[in-house]
Amino acid sequence: MSILEPPSTSSEVDVLQTFLFDKSQVRGEIVRLGSSWQTIQSRREYPAAIKRHLGEMVAAGALLSATLKFNGTLIIQAQGTGIVRLLVVECNAELGLRATIKLAPHLDGSLIDENTSLAELINPDGKGKLAITLDPKNRGEGQQAYQGIVPLVHNGKPVETIAQAMMAYMHHSEQLETHIWLSCNDEFASGILIQRLPEMGGKKREEVSSEELLDDWQRLYLLSNTVSNEEMLSTSPSVLMQRLFSEESEHQKVLTFEPRLVHFECQCSRKRVGNMLLMLGHAEVLSILEEQNRVETTCDFCGNVYEFDAVDCEQLFTAHNLLDGMRPAQGKH
Ligand SMILES: [Zn+2]
Repeated sequence: MSILEPPSTSSEVDVLQTFLFDKSQVRGEIVRLGSSWQTIQSRREYPAAIKRHLGEMVAAGALLSATLKFNGTLIIQAQGTGIVRLLVVECNAELGLRATIKLAPHLDGSLIDENTSLAELINPDGKGKLAITLDPKNRGEGQQAYQGIVPLVHNGKPVETIAQAMMAYMHHSEQLETHIWLSCNDEFASGILIQRLPEMGGKKREEVSSEELLDDWQRLYLLSNTVSNEEMLSTSPSVLMQRLFSEESEHQKVLTFEPRLVHFECQCSRKRVGNMLLMLGHAEVLSILEEQNRVETTCDFCGNVYEFDAVDCEQLFTAHNLLDGMRPAQGKH
């Protein structure tokens, strides 16, 4: 299923603004999510502290995805042994986002308050991990998925925020030098990213020394770092960009790009659930049918319910066997 939000550039919500400090070779992005974030959190009730981290990760997903020249899905997973077992955000090349959380079974909500840190929630034993996967759209056609995994640790301590986790990932995996600021409330999830670009091949920058580039990078960091959480949530990306970097025009031109729309999009479908049942095997599916009269699954990301009764299952396996010719369906034999 795919829910496309209506275009909303005029209100500048669900918009990602990219800009470039050309002389300093630094890329910037500001994202502010409204209805896409509200759709994600409307699927299930989560304690406020957990929801805040998820929202920040959603904003990070859009920011990171927009930095990639990659046709596929960026998947961010934070995994640990606390009350939160897994936070997942997926963002495709068209900035279609979905996200979900897996909590520990038998959750005691009284253990969490507004200020419970990310470390307490997901990484109580310090063994939590952050994985980022690039899953190409045309996997199997010579394109492989890439995954990088780092501990949820920054400067020897468990990370306290999603922004720290993302920056620790970029640092550990020797990605481009990047700073990220994130913020989230019930209405909006917002973020800012600045990133040093690699020296462009063939594009000589003799007029700018590496000391100057470093000075520029530090100045742009300090300007970005003046942003408050409240400001990020309440201000349109283009206005915020002006506000943060207006004095930068004394040093260089800030190139801006056409804002991009971000939307909620789930990739689940009846066909995918059908494929899952085929992988489960005929015998297993029959035994579920015997117990429950039907096979029912709910998508963790969008809440869609898929139901297969005995007739649906028979059709599924018959069609599969016909298509597969002589190859029998997988299963327990
Ligand atoms: Zn779904």
